[in-house]
Amino acid sequence: MSEIRLQVKNLCKSFGITKAVQNVSFDINKGEVHALIGENGSGKSTLTNMLTGIYTKDSGEFILDGKEIHPKNQVEANNEGVSIIVQELGTLDGLTVAENIFLGHEDKFVKCGIKNTNAMNKQANELLKKYGFERIKASDMVDDYNFEDRKLVEIVKATYFGPKIVVIDETTTALSQEGREELYKHMKRIRAEGNTVIFISHDLPEVLELSDTITILRDGVYIDTVKSADVTEDDLKKLMVGREVTGDYYRADYGEKVSDEVVLSVKNVTVPGLIKDVNFELHKGEILGFGGLSESGMHEVGKACFGASFDREGKVTLADGTEINDIPTAISHSIAYTSKDRDNESVVMNQSIGENICIPSLDSLSNKAGILSGKKMKEFSNKFAKEMSVKMVNTDQFVSNLSGGNKQKVVLARWIGKDSDILVLDSPTRGIDIKVKQDIYQLMDKMRKNGKSIIMISEEMAELIGMCDRIIIMKDGMISGELARNPEMDENKLIAKMV
Ligand code: ADP
Ligand code: MG
Repeated sequence: MSEIRLQVKNLCKSFGITKAVQNVSFDINKGEVHALIGENGSGKSTLTNMLTGIYTKDSGEFILDGKEIHPKNQVEANNEGVSIIVQELGTLDGLTVAENIFLGHEDKFVKCGIKNTNAMNKQANELLKKYGFERIKASDMVDDYNFEDRKLVEIVKATYFGPKIVVIDETTTALSQEGREELYKHMKRIRAEGNTVIFISHDLPEVLELSDTITILRDGVYIDTVKSADVTEDDLKKLMVGREVTGDYYRADYGEKVSDEVVLSVKNVTVPGLIKDVNFELHKGEILGFGGLSESGMHEVGKACFGASFDREGKVTLADGTEINDIPTAISHSIAYTSKDRDNESVVMNQSIGENICIPSLDSLSNKAGILSGKKMKEFSNKFAKEMSVKMVNTDQFVSNLSGGNKQKVVLARWIGKDSDILVLDSPTRGIDIKVKQDIYQLMDKMRKNGKSIIMISEEMAELIGMCDRIIIMKDGMISGELARNPEMDENKLIAKMV
């Protein structure tokens, strides 16, 4: 029999009228990877945030190795032997890599009231080396690193001290394949040392491969705990959604002819250091996919089409000859863009759902005197939040409190409200559960049928294959191949052109 590490007992937490976690009880063992799954908003982050002192619980208990713990913040949680890699960015700007790793534990390096920065940097560099992340330097500001590298810093920060439980909340969606492999290695090490990983991920194949045990939550309620070896992906989907996932997941048609009408043409576009001499045309009613490794330049192609690239050369032109060189021109000519980095580049976190939805449409929401009409804004945002079924109390709720899938729905509601003709969707389903994914795929299919044109950039090959009329593959900043929609296409053909 495996030994129990953590007992979760009758745990409850509400936010206003939202019951985020309702009387949840289950056990987690030593030496296991215990996955926590459920649709967006099912309470996974709320539960693990309470365990790690980020949120306070309303009631219930966490019993670690037989003793109740009450961490009031992350540092206290660390001292109890519990750490977390949070879903959002978990490192702080304005501090060095080393300061981030040892945040809250600087006292180790203080002697006679003086902080020994050299000793701290030295130890951080040794850790980074041990983890195989030598390219990250302890004394650099963490701001100098991209999202992925900052996640690697968080891996070090959360695991270097050998905690009894490490929570990994949706970290893999932020990582490239290489970054994921690194993370998996450390998850396996933690398990081998007899410690526990609580692993939150939307990627069910990944969950099945890496975890020993899986607990399913739905709408804040505990559903079941199962052994990974005993279940299939479909079993898990059913447990998560509470019914069979019916209807088409991706679009179902093949062999439909795409219009010859060109709506956007990209000629000799180069962004120094990122993409080189990219050429393509987007047609009316087409879903054009871009695939590749995360550093292939494909994300920059999306930015270039929206006039958001820095130092771009070449031309991005609409059918009427308008050249797109900046974001205001793109927006006023009906181009929409959603960023891969949703939290930093797409939503305005400290504004309401309503304000976020109205941003690009403010021109049409003013009264005759040119003053913004609160009534019009309210009606407008309500209409499109409803249309996208954003799960919320009302549109005054702050976006920062929504789950990832709901944030994405807000971003999409914004552009649907604006009635955009060309949508550049970078990683539109990143970190989103199957039900919301299905909603987004169906929305894309509907838009395509209504003559809208979509550029879909994704690191998930299955969705590119499922949704696109055409897929362009990028490698080292250049286009390395193109494939047309067909039922025989498989991931291997794409991978061959990616690496
Ligand atoms: P998951 O991680 O499973 O996607 P969460 O735990 O983030 O879900 O969210 C559970 C519910 O609690 C959702 O309805 C979400 O909107 C709500 N919620 C989470 N955090 C907050 C917060 N800080 N303020 C208000 N509501 C929140
Ligand atoms: Mg979450």
